[in-house]
Amino acid sequence: MPLVLAVSATILAFMAIVLARTLSVPGAAAPRAPLSSLELESAAGIEDKLAALVRFATISSWDASLENAAAFEALIAALPGLFPQVHAALARERIGDRALLYAWQGKDPALEPAILCAHFDVVPAEDEAGWRHGPFSGDIDDGFVWGRGTQDIKVTLASALEAAERLLSRGFQPRRTILFAFGGDEEVGGNRGAALIAKELARRGTRAAFLLDEGGPVAKGMLAMADRPLALVGIAEKGYIDVRLEATGSGGHASMPPRRTATGDIARAVAALEAKPGSTRIGFTVKSFLGRLRPYVPFGYRVLFSNLWVFGPLVRLAFSGSPTTAALLRSTRAATMLEGSPKENVLASHASAIINVRILPGEDSLGVLDRIMQIVGRFGVVASPAHADSVVEPLPESSLDTELWRAIEAALGTAFPEAAMLPFLFSAGTDTKHYRHIARAMYRLTPLLQTSEDLAGVHGRDERVEISNLRRCLRFYETLIGSL
Ligand SMILES: [Zn+2]
Repeated sequence: MPLVLAVSATILAFMAIVLARTLSVPGAAAPRAPLSSLELESAAGIEDKLAALVRFATISSWDASLENAAAFEALIAALPGLFPQVHAALARERIGDRALLYAWQGKDPALEPAILCAHFDVVPAEDEAGWRHGPFSGDIDDGFVWGRGTQDIKVTLASALEAAERLLSRGFQPRRTILFAFGGDEEVGGNRGAALIAKELARRGTRAAFLLDEGGPVAKGMLAMADRPLALVGIAEKGYIDVRLEATGSGGHASMPPRRTATGDIARAVAALEAKPGSTRIGFTVKSFLGRLRPYVPFGYRVLFSNLWVFGPLVRLAFSGSPTTAALLRSTRAATMLEGSPKENVLASHASAIINVRILPGEDSLGVLDRIMQIVGRFGVVASPAHADSVVEPLPESSLDTELWRAIEAALGTAFPEAAMLPFLFSAGTDTKHYRHIARAMYRLTPLLQTSEDLAGVHGRDERVEISNLRRCLRFYETLIGSL
């Protein structure tokens, strides 16, 4: 066969495979209409309970002596009044001062329990005067509940307990035991909350089949290429390490400097790290995300995402272009703190920098440190963990083939029928990390429809939740728990 024919035949065969893979993607069903306010009428009342929880200023702090312990105690004391049936039917334990564990006994003791997590602490509200409604007012106005915790994350604590309340009043008992695990210090690491609960469960030999914690939103308008809102369920979580770079120098007077200084060495090391950000990789989570995104994107994207075997490098290149998508493909390194000489006219005898690293699943802190050492070593710079006790290895990627995964999908279908559900890589840390040896599969979702603007209120100003959105959140938990 002449070469020209052979080449054309190869190209045709190649195009046929690309096209076949693209066309094998099932088309998306037309998005269903969102629930009307009439359909959500039965969920009315949840707003008052959330508002009541918001009024306790449960601000956690790294320095426990700065906390208002009375606010935490008052919130805990208020729960039985707000959710009487739950407190009559479920066993509630306090572990330490910041952890609550409720056990709802299932019918089948052979099934491993499911854990539903939330936390009842919040971050401080800076710029209080600039809020339209006070951060701890719990005002209900203009169709919203206002204040700290309305999105992060008293909203799911209230919704999960209210869902249980309603199911109990209908005589419901779950098949599988359900544990509600609530910490009061998630925003400052979770050592007095979730960590103690996990430790206690481990001591009792409890293994959970799966866990649901706060996480990705039902994102509206955040991914321009998608034709509908996307519920981004975190199935994996990046790890965390602060790496300290250190260089030593001669010190002395700055009027007669040597050719190289400790400060210069640190600067060169930081520049070298930025010049070599590390290779990108499409791991299981991102591959699953792109695969399931295909029905909801235009044909061109569908071709790309259906044929990562050939277009993988192109997708990686495109994703590397934006910080948001690049973070899905690599362990990120960010130089954050720099230190040199303490005085204008003195040479540094010691200079340092902190590199904040978020570790991709599949890698680990030792590998990250090794790689950094390889890059900075030639400048005479040494790398080491800055705070050994704050290192978090990446959390494993959870299976998409579990009862809870399917239950989440079904519950989203009931509460957010217009959205599609996708697995996602979560890059912030949550209480989930404490349960890594307890739960076999871990998912992270905040079942609220959120835009980028809504998310700005989380840890920012004017945190609020629309009442209809809150009622959907309750509907989500009611369906989810009812199916376990
Ligand atoms: Zn939170």
